[in-house]
Amino acid sequence: MEIIRTVREMQRWALEEKRKGRFIGFVPTMGCLHEGHLSLVKLARSRSDLVVLSIFVNPIQFLPGEDFSRYPRPVERDESLCLESGVDVLFYPDSAQMYAPDHSVIIEETLLSRGLCGATRSGHFKGVTTVVAKLFNIVIPDVAVFGQKDAQQLRVIQRMIRDLNIPVEIIPGPIVREPDGLAMSSRNRYLTPAERQDALCLRRALDHVEKCIQEGERDVETLRKELAGVLDRVPAVRVEYIEFVDDETLQPVKRVERLVLVALAIRIGLTRLIDNTVLMTRQD
Ligand code: AMP
Repeated sequence: MEIIRTVREMQRWALEEKRKGRFIGFVPTMGCLHEGHLSLVKLARSRSDLVVLSIFVNPIQFLPGEDFSRYPRPVERDESLCLESGVDVLFYPDSAQMYAPDHSVIIEETLLSRGLCGATRSGHFKGVTTVVAKLFNIVIPDVAVFGQKDAQQLRVIQRMIRDLNIPVEIIPGPIVREPDGLAMSSRNRYLTPAERQDALCLRRALDHVEKCIQEGERDVETLRKELAGVLDRVPAVRVEYIEFVDDETLQPVKRVERLVLVALAIRIGLTRLIDNTVLMTRQD
């Protein structure tokens, strides 16, 4: 496995491999890797000749007061996980490589990024779209894999690809969970054992909504109350949002018909956690 730290060297490697006709698969991450990230590496591998994984904790997608400086950076562990999982190139730039001191261009998606996490993390998605567009120009991938765990991010990136005609195919990867149902996340390590237990309410709430759907409930207000009821039973949980939106447009819906994304964000202590599921209904 090669570790590349500069933009120029990464571009040179990518152009050289493409000249040889190699297909490049790309997995962008912020590091502190877990099985969720590694499942994306597998997906990328199944669709390409060479896999590049990037680790970059992108300062411009964190808001003031968020966890940028304390975001976990277990460098050596991440490097060995990449090696073990068959990554060909680990792209590991520092901030100075990625942003000129006077950088002044951003990329902004203006519709799908407004609601859900965008409502409380204003400016977050501008940081994401800007860094992903930059990474695509640096790694020059044919396909890139993004997790359904960050459902809104995935759809915002798909929209950016479509609207800016970026020649990269986006492959969604399913959410990987711990055996007890908690969605894997680098931020789970912030949780105390008691908070870790409380966090299971996310999965319980989503399971409960799926059960209501199976029993025939379609009204979103009723489903929202059912879901909130599960979260409210855990005193340490503060709900940031519970949203039922069209899976493609991310606009709120009143009834569950076709594909509806249920997305949740909660806070437990100092930690913010998100989870989601896509509800599928048979055409009644
Ligand atoms: P992050 O390092 O948290 O920015 O995530 C990098 C990529 O991994 C994103 O595409 C995430 O959606 C994806 N990812 C994070 N957690 C999971 C998970 N539990 N299952 C699947 N993909 C994930």
